[in-house]
Amino acid sequence: MQTQLADFIRDTADGQVADDILRKCVHCGFCTATCPTYQLLGDELDGPRGRIYLIKQVLEGHEPSEKTRLHLDRCLTCRSCESTCPSGVQYGRLLDIGRHVVEQKVPRQGADRVVRWALREFVPRAGLFGAAMKAGRLVRGMLPEVLKDKVPLARPSGPWPRPRHARRMLALAGCVQPAMAPSINAAAARVLDTLGISLHEAPGGGCCGAVRHHLNDHAGGKADMKRNIDAWWPAVERGEVEAIVMTASGCGAQIKDYGHILRDDPLYADKARRISELTKDVSEIVVAEIDTLAGRLRARGGQPTPLAWHAPCTLQHGLKLRGGVERLLAAAGFELTPVRDAHLCCGSAGTYSLLQPALSHTLRDSKLAALGEGGATLIASANIGCITHLQAGTTTPVRHWIELIDARLNGFPI
Ligand code: SF4
Ligand code: SF4
Repeated sequence: MQTQLADFIRDTADGQVADDILRKCVHCGFCTATCPTYQLLGDELDGPRGRIYLIKQVLEGHEPSEKTRLHLDRCLTCRSCESTCPSGVQYGRLLDIGRHVVEQKVPRQGADRVVRWALREFVPRAGLFGAAMKAGRLVRGMLPEVLKDKVPLARPSGPWPRPRHARRMLALAGCVQPAMAPSINAAAARVLDTLGISLHEAPGGGCCGAVRHHLNDHAGGKADMKRNIDAWWPAVERGEVEAIVMTASGCGAQIKDYGHILRDDPLYADKARRISELTKDVSEIVVAEIDTLAGRLRARGGQPTPLAWHAPCTLQHGLKLRGGVERLLAAAGFELTPVRDAHLCCGSAGTYSLLQPALSHTLRDSKLAALGEGGATLIASANIGCITHLQAGTTTPVRHWIELIDARLNGFPI
């Protein structure tokens, strides 16, 4: 596609990235067929090709309106369109740039502005979020549905193994996961311990930066990223850790992008690139040890359980990791049921479920129907947002897959 970017952006770093991406798009429209919001709304401007066109117009100098912003707001950033695109268009990066520009040109007003500010300031602060989660659990029965959905019941996390192996890896603590489901990182630590790897969380780490970045607070998102880099760098520099392990695929996709996002930062560019290289989804680590794991699991036995697997968009479209978790779950004796439209988003998408609740709930209902069609008695996923969102709409237990492997290995109830 030919472009003529306007003066305000043409010679900037973002302008060059956007120009490269726009030129790759041949406007074929293949991506619209796999876009959840296009499927729901049937409007070209609520699909990837239309949104690319809107962003191109804005970057070429056309004034955006609130309607432009709405079409971009409705995008889930699920990146299903990237998986479908035959031309390798990095839609997610283009959307980040487009949204940031539109946000500045069409400032938000009233409740929309306040809610987004509150999300940016509250969600990434793990201490504040944890205190609110504790308070929310005390009054859970009295909360409105939209908030009750975000307050899962507490589950015990179990012991964290003491460090004892020569192989060591860091884990991201994150922002919402420690309060919502501390059992996930603890389960990962126990599974990796069984495989001869000690996992630990570095003090000072926190939100991966995705919350603020995707709410168009790029400076705030970068500050979160730099804080994590500072927390991890001493262990990385001393060569003490061989990987930085993600148990939330949403965080993994973000940290894999640190190298790109901080590429022009004179102090952090090299460190960010190294951190991105070291970042691995926990499934990549465990799949590499699948023979050892399968042997341990066989020794434990266990009943086959029909299970529906929901691959988060950040895992399948963002990190492009497909098939690994399914192999691990099968090795652990779970019978994976067929799931229709597995490429489609569940509607969680970070803060999307709060900002676009109607679309989000419609997508969740469709996803839960698809997950239930094969008779599964259990649902597994790989991202805290998807797990919490899906669990709020069903009585079928929804768990992180690493918790299920841990339960089978260590004889815990699911
Ligand atoms: S993003 Fe890719 S699939 Fe979509 S219109 Fe452009 S080239 Fe075609
Ligand atoms: S990221 Fe998802 S919702 Fe957004 S345009 Fe692409 S497929 Fe559609």
